[in-house]
Parts: sequence; C-alpha cells; structure tokens
Amino acid sequence: MGDFSILNRQRDIKLLKSKEFDLILIGGGITGAGVFLDAQQRGLSCCLVEMQDFAEGTSSKSTKLIHGGLRYLKQGNFRLVHETGKERNVVAHIARHLTYPKEVLLPIIKGGSFSKLQLKFALWVYEELAQVPKELRHSSYSKNELINALPGIQNKNLLGGIGYVEYQTNDSRLTIEVIKKAVELGGVAVSRLRASELIEGENGVVSSIRVKDITSNDTFTINAKCVVNATGPWTDNLLTVKSNSIIAKIKPTKGVHLVFDQNRFSLSKAIYFDTPDKRMIFAIPEDGKVYVGTTDTFYEGDLTNPTISNSDVAYLLAACNNMFSELDLKSEDIVGAWSGIRPLIDEKNKRPSEISRKYEIYQDASGVLSIAGGKLTGYRKMAEKIVNTAIDKYFHKASLYPCNTSTLKLAGSEFDSNKSYYEILEEFLDSAAKLGWKVEEAKWVFSQFGSQAEAILNLQVVEGDIPEYLHKTLLFTLENELVQTPSDFFIRRTNLFNFHFELVVLHYDSVSQIINAYLNLKPDQIATDERKFNAMIDTLKKINQSL
Ligand SMILES: Cc1cc2nc3c(=O)[nH]c(=O)nc-3n(C[C@H](O)[C@H](O)[C@H](O)COP(=O)(O)OP(=O)(O)OC[C@H]3O[C@@H](n4cnc5c(N)ncnc54)[C@H](O)[C@@H]3O)c2cc1C
Repeated sequence: MGDFSILNRQRDIKLLKSKEFDLILIGGGITGAGVFLDAQQRGLSCCLVEMQDFAEGTSSKSTKLIHGGLRYLKQGNFRLVHETGKERNVVAHIARHLTYPKEVLLPIIKGGSFSKLQLKFALWVYEELAQVPKELRHSSYSKNELINALPGIQNKNLLGGIGYVEYQTNDSRLTIEVIKKAVELGGVAVSRLRASELIEGENGVVSSIRVKDITSNDTFTINAKCVVNATGPWTDNLLTVKSNSIIAKIKPTKGVHLVFDQNRFSLSKAIYFDTPDKRMIFAIPEDGKVYVGTTDTFYEGDLTNPTISNSDVAYLLAACNNMFSELDLKSEDIVGAWSGIRPLIDEKNKRPSEISRKYEIYQDASGVLSIAGGKLTGYRKMAEKIVNTAIDKYFHKASLYPCNTSTLKLAGSEFDSNKSYYEILEEFLDSAAKLGWKVEEAKWVFSQFGSQAEAILNLQVVEGDIPEYLHKTLLFTLENELVQTPSDFFIRRTNLFNFHFELVVLHYDSVSQIINAYLNLKPDQIATDERKFNAMIDTLKKINQSL
C-alpha cells in the first residue's frame, strides 16, 4: 500500500485532529494544490481539506490548455504575456508528462477578428515576449494548405491561416500530481472533508476550522497558525460561513465543452475560430475524439453540479456548423460533455468574456487569506505570491527555504535526466510489449502517469474481467492517489470518462467491484457513486435529445 492510499485516511484524520499545523488549505483544486506544495516545500507544515474529490470543482473542467497568454496581447497587456509565457515554459518543464505542445490553426477570414498581417505581427510579438522556443514558433498556411489541414472548413471568404503552439494538459491529473508531491514532502491531504466553520480565537483571528467528514458525518476541529481559502467558485460562500466581514468578490461564469467522435467530426489539428457572436472557441482533437468549447455565460445555479442548457448545446453546434459548413453536427452526435465554473473576480458592467482572468489575494478582518481568480496556467506563480504573503504575516522568513517550485519536478515527471523523453517512452513501450500490452494501452498509461508508468507495469494483479493495463492503473491510483469511487478513477485520475466513455460503460461494474473489495465499502457508499454516475449518463442522454 502506498502512503497516499485511502486505507491511510483514518491515520491522516487522527493527525488532523491532534496536530497544530502552520497552514490549513481549504480547497483541493489546482489553486489549493499549488499553495499546498509551495508552502510545504518552504518548510511549513501544511494540511489540505477538499469537500469533494480533488479537482472535482473547476480544475477538471477546463479547456485543458497551458496558455501562453495570446489573449492578453489583444488587451495590450504585454507584461502579462511575458509572465504567462515564461510560466508556461516552467510548467512544461516540471510537469513534462502532462504538457504537450499542440499546433492550433487560426483561420483567417475576410472581415474576421484579424488580418493575416496583424496576426503574424501579433504572434511575432507574442512569441518574443513569451520566449517561445524557435522550433515551436508560428507558421503560415495558404488557403489551400489550410483546407488540406482542416478538411471541410468553409472556404467562403477564407484567406488562409496561421498555426501557433499551445500546450495541452490534463487538468485533474496536473492537480493530483501537485498534491502528491506535497504529500511526499510531508503534507497531509484529505478529500471529502468540508470546512463548515471558521473559528476565531480570543484575538478575533481565525486559527482553527471545523470540518465535516462527508463519508461519516463526523465533525472535528483542525488548528493552524494561518488559514488559506482556495475554494475557487465557492470563495465567497466559505467566508459567509464565518462572519459578517465577508468581501464578495466572485462573479461566476459557466463554460461548457462538448465531445464528438472523430468519425463524426474529423480533425487532425486543433483550431481556434470565430463564433457568429464574435467570440472565439477551440476544437481540439484528443484520443480519437474532438472536444469543442467553450461557452462563457454568467451563472447563478448550483456550483457543485453546473448544468448544460439547450442554449449551450445549440451555441457550440452552431459555431462548429458555421465554420465547417457540411458538418451538420446534431445533439445526438455528442458523446461527452462537461461544464465548469470560472471563479472570476467581479468587474462591474463587463460581459463574461470581457472580465479579466486576473487573480487576487486578500485578507478579511479575521485573518483568513483568500486567493481567487486566475488560471490553471498560472497556479504556481499564484501559489508563490500567497505563500510570500502568509510568510510575511505569520512566520519567520529566515527559518524557511526560498521558493523552488519552478524546478521541483512533479510526481510523474521525475525522469532520468541522462535520457531523452522519447528514449524513456520507447524503453517503456518495449517493457510493456513483453507483458503483452498493446502499444496504444502502454502509450496511454505513459501519457497519464509519466515516470510512474514503470511502477504501474510492475504491479501484480490477478487476472480479472478488465484488461491488465487498466487493472494495474486502477490499483496504482487506489494505492497512491486516494481514489475512493469509480468516478474518481474514470473522471479525475484518468480521462476515460471524457474521451473513452465506451470503456467506462464496459468496465464500470468490474472497477466498482475492485474498489469496493479494496476499500471494504458499505453498500450505501457504493450506491452513492452509482447514483452520481447514472445521473451523469442521464444528463448525456438529455443532451443527445435536447435539440
Ligand atoms: C470552461 C473553463 C475553461 C477553462 N480553460 C482553461 C484553460 O484552458 N487553461 C487555463 O489555464 N485555465 C482555464 N480555466 C481556468 C481554470 O480552470 C481555473 O482558473 C482553475 O481550475 C480554478 O481552480 P481553483 O482551484 O481556484 O478552483 P476549483 O478547481 O473549483 O477548486 C476549488 C475547490 O474547493 C473545494 N471547496 C469548496 N468549498 C469547500 C469547503 N467548504 N471545504 C472544502 N473544500 C471546499 C471545491 O470542492 C473545489 O474542488 C478554465 C475555466 C473554465 C470554467
């Protein structure tokens, strides 16, 4: 059993009850994860509590890109482009197995958002500022070249295009790898623990929190010198829990993505294109599927289960059918979908897509430090800033280490530096072939787990109903990634739910049985996940019939 196994949950809860920590982090999305790792690495003793599964909020529902900040260029914010681009290079280095450069094509249409000259100049400026390596710089496409690269693209008023590079990632795996690294350094992280009360000491400063264990309804107190609120869209709600000193900051907007099979929407390259209402959306090929998004609308509903409305579906279908005029995508072609909430900092009187994606760090009268807004891409820098703030306010800097997260490789990216990434991949494919794994199975495991793939390969499992690569991957996530339910495994430890739904349907029962046996679960706990899972299938069916 690995140290970050659910079988150690009671041991960890005992520790949470008995120890006084330096810092409590509330929220296990990418923002909380980043702060957890940064603070732990500096030498602070930290714990993290997450009320759902890790990354079950926005951090598993993004467009899954580590951006270089191109959109900030349009706003004239050169400094931000420079910072974001630099940061992208850092994340690509520390999370090598989860960040892949991917060419994105920008069609240039007469009367569209940009002329070719404007775009080429903008990209030149962007690539200089963002320090994009030479081999990954943009290239021009003539009209015919673009049509060849994107068969079916409408050619009326099409002038050509430009290809530039974005980095694709796996948002929830990035979050879990950051958390795992912090746990490896001595941090304590427990999911399905909800912060229900912020408790002020006699001096009026919050120095403990009350949490409720969602799995048992048990409640207990955790003590710390400093409390950090990293609850994304829930940031204001958490502060309301406490007192009248709430500073409302968040203006949530919803973003929906739809997934199509490549048989229906065939793309070999990603495209970033204009919508009829002058926004821009992505269509990105991934693992035999194409995902399209995102919408951007204000949202006031349930933050835990953001809905997908008929108008969200209609909007994305219309945008695709407009750009690919023969495509005729319909709602019944949708094979997957997700909806996420952006925790944006409110800027009065702005439309959703005009609100800046900046982040803020602020403290209320009771001393709770909150961090909200920002992007997946900037998580490490955000963490560095808030930990600096916490250290200035609560700790003795001289006794702590400086921040070194820009070179600290995440779990899964600790490769032998004497070999190239591709040599290591080839060696892994050879070892996997000897065990009878198919090339695509081995590649999939490597792309999700990087340097941990070898450990997965070497696990022992008894032959069962599911393929060996999947069984071993499941066992690894049970032992090392605090998996508690089939949904944790299928949605947030792997991307199977989004991109290989057919495998989920095929193997759900076997996966469920293996997890139940491993965890010795009670029937009502099993039923809860099955209900949730069935609700997601019902949602997909409704989407299929929505228009
Ligand atoms: C549609 C969409 C597309 C996006 N695309 C990109 C992209 O391509 N690239 C990019 O860089 N960024 C992107 N973003 C932005 C990025 O995803 C978010 O900025 C980021 O995931 C926010 O992370 P977070 O940790 O702040 O919030 P979350 O991931 O929501 O985490 C907050 C966590 O706090 C937990 N929580 C809440 N209340 C409590 C409590 N009381 N006790 C314990 N836990 C609690 C929640 O369960 C949740 O897991 C996108 C966002 C959306 C919505």
